[in-house]
Amino acid sequence: MKNILVSNDDGINSPGLFRLKQALDSVGEVTVIATDRERTASGHTKTMHKPLRIKEVQFPDGSLAYSSSGATSDCVALAVLGFLPRLPDLVVSGINFGANVGHDITYSGTLAAAFEGTVSGIPSIAASLDTYEEGDFRSAARFVAHLAQEVMARGLPPNVLLNVNVPNVPEDEIAGVEITKLGRRLYRDQLIKRQDPRGRDYYWIGGERPTGVAEDEGTDIWALAGKRISVTPIHLDLTDHSFIKELRSWKICTEER
Ligand code: MN
Repeated sequence: MKNILVSNDDGINSPGLFRLKQALDSVGEVTVIATDRERTASGHTKTMHKPLRIKEVQFPDGSLAYSSSGATSDCVALAVLGFLPRLPDLVVSGINFGANVGHDITYSGTLAAAFEGTVSGIPSIAASLDTYEEGDFRSAARFVAHLAQEVMARGLPPNVLLNVNVPNVPEDEIAGVEITKLGRRLYRDQLIKRQDPRGRDYYWIGGERPTGVAEDEGTDIWALAGKRISVTPIHLDLTDHSFIKELRSWKICTEER
């Protein structure tokens, strides 16, 4: 049986994590290491200047899980660097509360766990449900379990992970699955300035939830708008190959070149 590491950034008690674990139990030997609190938008980090603590936690089904004081990427690093007796064959992160589409992936703690798995050479999947309200994670979990089997059977190319987003509708209303590219998020962040009781300024990044451009065909945002599951292959080589030639013509290279 294959070993599957499950993590997420909504905290060890999040319903999406437990549903995902339950669904993956049928396709592999699952170990859960997740953050001990919500770490949404914690990005891809490596905790180096403070210790990492791990606690044993009992899940509602009686199984043992681990919570870590680190970020999601730390959870995967802990597993890969020897906390687990065997290397995972697959990393699955989620199921996140809220879609991770477009530029979200650069902020996302959910994606960061999959990035860490990919950096370690382990096939990885990130999965999110398109809701900030109450969500039913069961159909998303079922789809991810099916996808996990495919990934374990076929593998993924080096440096590539899969980013899955599932619409928050009953399973019989899901209108299909699209292989997509990243869409365009529209952020509506606002800087809110206040004063603390001692008269010093402090700041919150607030504002409305992001929206996105639903009209761009073939994107993750477009797929979700049509009540379809999106699966986006993400490459960790962020080089813009198309810009290399023009950048070489800038006056920043040495004469000899
Ligand atoms: Mn989250």
